[in-house]
Amino acid sequence: MIVAIIGGGPAGLNAALVLARANHQVLLFDNQKPRNAVTGHMHGFITREGIAPGKFRRLAHQELERYPNVKRYYATVVDAKRMSDGTFLLATKKGRQVRAERLLLATGLKETLPQIQGLSRYYGKSIFSCPYCDGYELRNKQLAIMTEGSNAVALAATIQQWSKRLHLFTNGKSKLQSSEQELLRLMGVAFYQEPIHALVGPNGKLRQVVLQSGKRIACSGGFVSTYWKHAGSLAEQLGCKLAEHGGIWQDGKGRTSVAGIYVAGDAMSISPAQAVLAAGDGVRAAISLNQDAAQSLLNEHAKHLQNSQT
Ligand SMILES: Cc1cc2nc3c(=O)[nH]c(=O)nc-3n(C[C@H](O)[C@H](O)[C@H](O)COP(=O)(O)OP(=O)(O)OC[C@H]3O[C@@H](n4cnc5c(N)ncnc54)[C@H](O)[C@@H]3O)c2cc1C
Repeated sequence: MIVAIIGGGPAGLNAALVLARANHQVLLFDNQKPRNAVTGHMHGFITREGIAPGKFRRLAHQELERYPNVKRYYATVVDAKRMSDGTFLLATKKGRQVRAERLLLATGLKETLPQIQGLSRYYGKSIFSCPYCDGYELRNKQLAIMTEGSNAVALAATIQQWSKRLHLFTNGKSKLQSSEQELLRLMGVAFYQEPIHALVGPNGKLRQVVLQSGKRIACSGGFVSTYWKHAGSLAEQLGCKLAEHGGIWQDGKGRTSVAGIYVAGDAMSISPAQAVLAAGDGVRAAISLNQDAAQSLLNEHAKHLQNSQT
């Protein structure tokens, strides 16, 4: 069976491995814009602790090279539609057209940073979004938590697991309720509700957060709540249902609402995730795809048998 995987992050790469080993023809599309490209180290993936994201991908590709049934396209898929014969027609940005019998969307998500001057220089170096990924390296330091949403108290409570020296900034975007302020005081978390004017520190290393009033707060790194959305519109083009939280809906085993289309990794959750989970999702979706293919073959045989007996 010809399976196209769109997205070559941990989810797509691991799905490619499992599908290649199940003797499918795998077409792996990737435009090489992974979300974690901004960071130097990937943590929490056993046997790969601290690996550079680029090295992780290189190792994965080396392993896939052993399988002649995996074909790689370093290209952006811009269009996908279902044809009358049930196959999918994909088009890349450069105009290449490719047909596949099954599709696996592993496109990850697009992340936008809140509008704080200079934040992109620090993101991935000393400011991160996921404490489970990068909290350990920041443990016991004086940290900034920048969050414009309503999750301030819960976020501070989580990050206290790594450091008790916390400064929370709402960047003037949300008002903390008096009960929230009380909880933060009880937790020993300092909070600031005015807009952030600038971040200061050399080579991506945060040293101070400067508020609009000119007040400077010393911090040696921190966490920021970022905004997420789909990486593109392929799921919508194909008629896949979206989940309430914004990811592509799936049945818990990677099957989307459209037969023959599967999803894995960050694309299905739109919430902080980890590479090892994305890789696991890729495996799960690949197994569902293979089992569904086996089931359709079985159904065809059963139909033949029934026809020959009548
Ligand atoms: C700053 C930062 C630090 C992180 N640190 C860690 C960490 O320490 N440990 C950890 O486990 N996780 C970490 N993560 C999270 C982790 O990187 C993601 O959870 C993981 O990469 C998700 O894998 P994925 O395969 O679903 O998506 P991605 O890795 O995002 O891969 C998706 C791929 O699909 C490609 N793509 C998208 N659309 C198309 C298209 N239309 N055509 C072709 N290709 C397409 C993209 O270019 C990309 O290569 C971090 C994330 C960030 C932002």
